[in-house]
Amino acid sequence: MQVLLATANQGKVKELVGMLKGEEISVLSLNDFPDFPEVEETGLTFAENALLKARAAASWAGLVALADDSGLEVDALGGKPGVFSARYAGEPKDDEKNIVKLLAELEGKPEKERTARFRCCLAIVCPVTGQEFLTEGKVEGRILQAKRGTGGFGYDPIFYLPELQKTMAELSLAEKNTISHRAQAFQQAIPILRELKLRREIP
Ligand code: IMP
Repeated sequence: MQVLLATANQGKVKELVGMLKGEEISVLSLNDFPDFPEVEETGLTFAENALLKARAAASWAGLVALADDSGLEVDALGGKPGVFSARYAGEPKDDEKNIVKLLAELEGKPEKERTARFRCCLAIVCPVTGQEFLTEGKVEGRILQAKRGTGGFGYDPIFYLPELQKTMAELSLAEKNTISHRAQAFQQAIPILRELKLRREIP
């Protein structure tokens, strides 16, 4: 039984493979489909973008496809950078510039007005039945005034988790993978994949 995770990011593949241990479901990625055309992420929400990618991958490969889209929502900025998280400071994608821009926009804002969350939407599309599923995970936190920690990527060094008293960049990869928005969304996909497999809808 094979599914396609519509990403070339090996970290995400490894995370899903780990969760599917013992399920007899193997995971292919876009590294196995080098000719897969880039999907333009034109959606206004994470869910729309995840669905765009999963639909394209499912019909291209004829396999049940999963695709995620995620980013940071800052309350004081009306949910920005949201779907624009990766390229918030423009092209090409630059994590450091994104952080600088975000900190400048929040300058002077007190702690209680710096609430934010990471959100991840995962879409699962079956090419045989056309069934579509969406799962979602989120992690609440706060944007610090300056970076802390060296792990992770993206906005991790400025994203503070009050309950753990650490930034996302101060967590080990294993710790991050147990609490992250992506881990939550992936975890919810497991019973859905199990069900699709039982109904023999995975070619
Ligand atoms: P993607 O949808 O996983 O490609 O994520 C889009 C963008 O959102 C990334 O380039 C980051 O800027 C931001 N982002 C998503 N997840 C995380 C995370 O776990 N930590 C930090 N930044 C993230």
